[in-house]
Amino acid sequence: MKIQCDQLASLLPEFFDGTLSTDQTDAALDHFATCESCRLTVDELEGVRTLAGEYGRLELPSDAKDRIRRSIGLD
Ligand SMILES: [Zn+2]
Repeated sequence: MKIQCDQLASLLPEFFDGTLSTDQTDAALDHFATCESCRLTVDELEGVRTLAGEYGRLELPSDAKDRIRRSIGLD
């Protein structure tokens, strides 16, 4: 299963929650292996989540959301 950046973005919340199916997780990891912009996005999300100190309940500042959306080509 190959996914695109926009599909990856829609999987991210569940990816972080660990609730994706095995196939979806494999697809996400496969995408990260080939897509630097999504890797950077996840690095950023991981950093924010670590700072927030909370798992799965991520409230990003709106400017960060905008930047992430742009970086993965949603806007
Ligand atoms: Zn991507």
